[in-house]
Amino acid sequence: MKYEIVMGLETHVRVKSETKMFCSCRNAVALAEEPNENVCGVCMGFPGMLPVLNEKIVDLAVRASNAMRMTVNEISIFDRKSYFYPDLPAGFQITQLFHPIAEHGEVKTMVDGAEKTFRIHRMHIENDAGKLVHAGSTTLLDYNRAGSPLMEIVTEPDFRSKPEVIAYLEELQKIMRWCGASDADMEKGQLRCDVNISIRPVGSDVLNNRVELKNLNSFSAIGRAIDNEFARQIEIMESGGRVTQETRGWDDEHGESRPQRSKEDAMDYRYFPEPDLPPLHVLGEFVQARLVPELPIDRRRKYLVEYKLQEDDARILSNERTLSDYYEELVALTGDPKKSCSYVTTVLFAIVLEHNARVRSEGVKSFLAVPAKELARVIELVAGDELSSTNSKAVVEELFENGGEADEIVDRLGLRQVNDTAALDAVVEQVIVEFAAQVSEYQAGKVQLFGFLVGSCMKASKGQGNPKMFTEMLKKKIG
Ligand SMILES: [Zn+2]
Repeated sequence: MKYEIVMGLETHVRVKSETKMFCSCRNAVALAEEPNENVCGVCMGFPGMLPVLNEKIVDLAVRASNAMRMTVNEISIFDRKSYFYPDLPAGFQITQLFHPIAEHGEVKTMVDGAEKTFRIHRMHIENDAGKLVHAGSTTLLDYNRAGSPLMEIVTEPDFRSKPEVIAYLEELQKIMRWCGASDADMEKGQLRCDVNISIRPVGSDVLNNRVELKNLNSFSAIGRAIDNEFARQIEIMESGGRVTQETRGWDDEHGESRPQRSKEDAMDYRYFPEPDLPPLHVLGEFVQARLVPELPIDRRRKYLVEYKLQEDDARILSNERTLSDYYEELVALTGDPKKSCSYVTTVLFAIVLEHNARVRSEGVKSFLAVPAKELARVIELVAGDELSSTNSKAVVEELFENGGEADEIVDRLGLRQVNDTAALDAVVEQVIVEFAAQVSEYQAGKVQLFGFLVGSCMKASKGQGNPKMFTEMLKKKIG
């Protein structure tokens, strides 16, 4: 029998706010930080301490909801989820179970060259727990992360393959960075994903018992865990068994998962409305002021369909907002999407590679230091035959290194092409006289000498003559 895999995702994304969710402690979970440096009575759960919701978190969560085309609820309510674990000092987490901040959205992405839509079921905001640090036979507790803000984004069971899961997560990462809600760096724990997996015979529409896979720390680990779980469930079904509904932890080192808890011993979290926080009201105008009209996928589609760019170029130029906005500005100035693309992806990127050290220290800003206006002028000069395409690279390089204006640089470096017919004609005449012997040989049939003569014209004009015009003039004069 053939089986298909059915998957849904629960992703935790750390909100990029200055301070934590309910207190004024710094929301930085940097590696260099000392353990338990950013803690206070609120995030440590001391008795009598009261949480105050950080408005910036609502702001960013609403931006993210808009970017995922979700409906932001006018009223959402915080709930207490009680359980005991050493990394949770208050003995409960503040989350939103019954009335989340936003519902019903979608994320569009490209999978194997085709556009796909994955539905988002809901998103709620909640605080993170601290961290257990195992050191030999002792376990240490670091509460820096306790009280950090998270968005939990739950999808519908719309995923049928590993590439779909990876494509969705990569798109989610782009969207979060695009709208500024999170850096969503998986290595830094800013994006964590649990995958719910069940299988069924191809053609069936039943939803069988599902297994929740946890502890997936990288895109590649997610891929391996999915393959492993798909094979494990097929094996159970083939031997006449039934998949147990349970949570399993993925052990990437050993390439296997182990049961963590089953449906039978599911915890009772005793959810109830958080008494220390009033319901959250999000006004329509607050939502409207945080719309995200164009997403990476919209730009990518436009570059492919309207601008007719190559797939790789369309993807690269739509991945990241600063670069994409720069490209948009350039296209608006030049009116030529293809030339603009090639000046960004070949000329600028090549310069960036050569100046790796500066780019590493300044990031994407360093090469955007070449203002779009000046790069557009370079493209215009080349299109108008005032600058050769070869020399244009030197101009961009100079703009990158020392700034300035394209026209001034072209003149300073003596790169402006001469298109004045009379001036070029004089050069051609001079070359014909100087190389009379070669001209005769050419006319006698040694055609390869034509290139030499054009080259001589270029040399005589100190590289500033227009080679196309030299070619035409020479042809007219010597046949
Ligand atoms: Zn605190």
